[in-house]
Amino acid sequence: MSDICMCCDSGAKMSAFSNETHRIEHHGLVIEIEGLSGFRCPVCGEIEFDAESAERYAEASDALMLEARRSTGKELRRIRKKLGMNQLEASKITGGGHNAFSRYETGKVTPTAAVINLFRVLEKHPEELEELKRA
Ligand SMILES: [Zn+2]
Repeated sequence: MSDICMCCDSGAKMSAFSNETHRIEHHGLVIEIEGLSGFRCPVCGEIEFDAESAERYAEASDALMLEARRSTGKELRRIRKKLGMNQLEASKITGGGHNAFSRYETGKVTPTAAVINLFRVLEKHPEELEELKRA
């Protein structure tokens, strides 16, 4: 690893840090990873974890994404059922292909923010659903 920051053009030397706790936030979920070490640019703050820390950070980050997807999936399922729609009808409204909703609800695929926002709005204004079904 180069000891000069590759992220900014300052030419600054990366300085070592160890045993730090880093926090990752994703869609309102938070995870803290302890005991991380690596190097940090004193100018731009860019971090390069050492191999072991990078691996743990990536694993924790992946786990958080998965948890966020599952949680979003549960929310979409709850709202869809409340609206009295099956997955196919929900897929037609959101335009993601005939089994898109099944993949969202099981957490296999992350729905776009537009899909999540639409369902949150529909939960508050279920009467608008008829308008969408006619379109
Ligand atoms: Zn830098």
